[in-house]
This record gives sequence, structure tokens and C-alpha cells, in this order.
Amino acid sequence: MQTASPPVAVKSGRGVYLELEDGRSIMDCISSWWVNIHGHGEPFIAAAIAEQAKKLEHVIFAGFTHEPAEVFAQRLLRKVPGHFSRIFFSDNGSTAVEVALKIAYQYWSNKGKNNKRRFIGFDGGYHGDTVGAMSIGGSSSFWNPFKGLMFDLDVVPYPATFAGDEFCEEKERATLDALKLLLESQNGYAGVFIEPLIQGAGGMRMCRPEFLQKLQELARKYEVLTIYDEVMTGFGRTGDWFACAKASTQPDLICLSKGITGGFLPMAVTLTTEPIFAEFYSAEMSKTFFHGHSYTANPIACAAANASLTLLEKNASSFQNLEPIHEHLFSRFLSGHPMLTRFRVCGTVAAFDVVTSAGTNYYDNVGARMREQFISEGFLIRPLGNTVYLMPPYCIDMDQLSAAYAAIRRVLDGLLA
Ligand SMILES: *Cc1c(COP(=O)(O)O)cnc(C)c1O
Repeated sequence: MQTASPPVAVKSGRGVYLELEDGRSIMDCISSWWVNIHGHGEPFIAAAIAEQAKKLEHVIFAGFTHEPAEVFAQRLLRKVPGHFSRIFFSDNGSTAVEVALKIAYQYWSNKGKNNKRRFIGFDGGYHGDTVGAMSIGGSSSFWNPFKGLMFDLDVVPYPATFAGDEFCEEKERATLDALKLLLESQNGYAGVFIEPLIQGAGGMRMCRPEFLQKLQELARKYEVLTIYDEVMTGFGRTGDWFACAKASTQPDLICLSKGITGGFLPMAVTLTTEPIFAEFYSAEMSKTFFHGHSYTANPIACAAANASLTLLEKNASSFQNLEPIHEHLFSRFLSGHPMLTRFRVCGTVAAFDVVTSAGTNYYDNVGARMREQFISEGFLIRPLGNTVYLMPPYCIDMDQLSAAYAAIRRVLDGLLA
């Protein structure tokens, strides 16, 4: 708080724009921490929330159920690859990951394989801020004060790639070799966690579907669960409904949260398959998955999620068509700029790194400096370190996205001066 600039006070939001208390208006190019997939103030979701609030605001979800949750579960299961059949509700991305972690861990012990206790994660992975989620994202330096609370993780490199990358296949091979070495050295692995196609907080690092297919092959061969953290990539972000669908892969568990209610209310789900469910479905109390939250499957949040799903179904082309538009605008405004490198795009997300000279502390503050400049230009664009990215609401139009690219161009030109 001591070093940050004062927070920007926001009065209201409509579509891609946020109205500030001081009368200015800024364009939200990052969907407000990646959640507002339809833009702000979407009236269809607001109305669904109001309706549900008048009917049933909440009910205990242990031993009780309600229509908004049932309907959402049925509809969501029709959107994900067909091998998923079971859904577990929670409140946010971190808990969705925590749930997946505990299901994977207990699955093996319910099966009587008590030796399968360890997890593998990826360098640069981010899975949330609770202790289990921190442990899975073990490579982040954010967690230094908590190392003593966290469990051990084996970490392999994320084969991050970009347009024109010559070494992509080499990096993938190195990662797969490292994985194989771990899996062969001991049979104590319960699962491998990955942010499929895009690592979000780690800097919008992108990997290829081909890599995810090989990862799945390896995990199956060595009987290790594959767990996709799709908290950010879910609900259209990658240009397909889910990263697992785009990559034609069938993970054992997926975690969803950010876009689930279109940014209106906190909610999350963890999805899994019938064979995993079957290991818990028992008359023995000890096989129960003992995990639940007070707001589990909150009816108002479920109503928002149903409304958001309806909008996504109606406007699927809005997320399916953004990738070529990003590519077009990049080549029109930014291609060849001397201050940028490693351009990459996946569906609705586009990113590049700002060139920084080693040996200075430029890396540390270029992002913060650019963030201020973007705000004064009228854009909410919030670099992660030296990575600049766009993750707009799907309702953004060509003129608006062009304006964002033009602003990035001006700010990059400013770095040259
Ligand atoms: C944001 C995020 C989380 C954590 O979600 P919260 O709702 O902030 O707890 C977990 N995993 C990924 C990939 C994320 O992007």
C-alpha cells in the first residue's frame, strides 16, 4: 500500500467501459481480472439475478438441492467433453483447485493405493492463494513467507512458445523427458496439474495442443491423474468453450471459475469423471469426500451462471472469432516494433513481452510504469512484469480493440523516446 498509487474509484460499468468517479471513462481490456467475459452491466444476467433473489436466495446444499444448480450442472456437462459426468460446486478458483487436489489425493487412497501421494506442477504455474493451491504453484516467489506451510512439489518447465519460435518442439521434448524421468523414478505420483494452453498469472505463457496430447499420453501410461486448471481458460477464453476441447484432450479433472457467472458473483466448479466418482460412491463413511462450503451452489450465483451460459451459446462466434482479429491488429499496429518480442495469441488472449536490458532494474518497474500510462490514455491494461496482454470482454468491437492496440503502440513508442 505504501508504494502503490491510490486506487481508481469506479462508479459504474457498461459493456467494455468503466465510468470513474472523476467523470472519466476507461476501456476495460482485461475483463477486470479476467472475469467479465460479456462486459460490464450485462442486463440479461442482472435480471436473472434479480428474479432468483426474489425466489430463493440460498439453501443448504447438503441433503438439499434446487433448480438453478441442477439446470446449470446439466447444461455445463453438455458443453464439456463427454467423459465428464460429475460436478462439485465451490466459491472461487482457489477452492476449485483445492477440491481437485483433495479429490485426486483421496481417489488413490480410496482405491487402496496409498503410495500415490505426490504431485507434479509446471514452472510459472499459478493456481490460487490457499495453501494447497500455493503448493501446486510452488515455483512462484510470492509464496516465500509460506514455504514452511506448503507441501513438496516436483516442477517441470512449461514449454512456452510464441509466433516464430524455432525451439518449440525442442522445449516440449525436454519437458516430456523431464516428466518421464520423474514418473519412472518412482510410482508415487497422484496427479499432474497444468494450466492448459495458457499460463495466466505466470505471464500469459502459451503452449501447444500437441504438447497437452503428449502429456496426457504419458500421464495415462504411468497411471497419474491429469488435472486441468481452467479457472482462466474456461468459458471461451481460448477461442473454444474449454481448453481441453480445443486441445482434444480428456483430463481427469477440470477446475472452472473466473468467467462462470460473467463476473457478477463468485462461484466455481470442479468437474470429474464417472470412474473417479465411483471410488467415492460407497456405503463406507470413510470413502466420503468431506469437503463443503457454506455458500456451495448458491442459487443466485447459479442463476447468474445459467444466464451467462445462455449468452455464450447465443454469441459463441464472439469468442470463436477473436484470434484472427488479434493477429490482424497486431500486424497493423505493432508488428516489428523494436520494444516488443515473443508475440503470442490464443483465442481471445494476446500477449507480448517488452524488451528489457539485463542488468538494470527496468524489468521490475516497466510494467507498473506502463500501467499508469495506459490509465491516463483511458485503458485498463495491466502488464504482468514486462508482459503486456489483452484479454477483453467478448463484446468488444473492432473499433474498440483497434483503439486499444493504437494505445499500446503509443506507450511502446514512449519507451523508445
Ligand atoms: C485466478 C486463478 C486462480 C485462482 O482463482 P481465485 O478465484 O482468484 O481464487 C486459480 N487458477 C488460475 C489458472 C487462475 O487464473
